[in-house]
Amino acid sequence: MNRLRPNPSLRHDIVQAVSRLKREGLLDGTGGALSMLGSTGISITAGGSARRFWRVGHRDVLEMNASGHLLKEAESRRRLPLGAGTHAMLYSLWPAARVVIHSHAGYAFLASAFGLSLTGEPPVRPMGQVPCLGTGLNRSIVTREDWDYQILPGQLRSFFESAATENRKASISFLEFEHGSYVVGTKLSTAITDLALLESGARVAVLRAQLNGNV
Ligand SMILES: [Zn+2]
Repeated sequence: MNRLRPNPSLRHDIVQAVSRLKREGLLDGTGGALSMLGSTGISITAGGSARRFWRVGHRDVLEMNASGHLLKEAESRRRLPLGAGTHAMLYSLWPAARVVIHSHAGYAFLASAFGLSLTGEPPVRPMGQVPCLGTGLNRSIVTREDWDYQILPGQLRSFFESAATENRKASISFLEFEHGSYVVGTKLSTAITDLALLESGARVAVLRAQLNGNV
């Protein structure tokens, strides 16, 4: 069996980051996950972390391989989050990526529920395009899992191909229709800042759409 040792320094960074994101209201109790790519694999918050309102310790960070499969750890009873495969896919789509934050919080979730892309809102302008992927498709024909693994990859691939070529890109962000936000970053601190910017940009987009009668 493929075994990797836990990466204590990434675990520490993830636990600290979760507590900061929670403090800032950038995570909520309905879902989400934070992962980081290290030299030995991907460390990711365990499934159910959101339901525990992000009271997350080192034992709640799991190790997985590049395909999104849990690496056995004798003492761990935790499971990978449902979106673990999406995180693994994002690292493969953008080799410079070192951190993925997926959140269900705030206005970014609302914007995703309304299918709003964030283009040109002042706070997100420096981040480039933040599209809402997965809109315009008939969701009733697929399960949640099919949606992530069969429908999103094609859209993600073409978005990342164009986004990754932009110069000096520190993060690539997108919304998933009815499923919140993702920030894929080269550095944890920048990814956290960009999630805050995205939340702010989403607030502008949602209020603007509301005032214009578009939602
Ligand atoms: Zn989610």
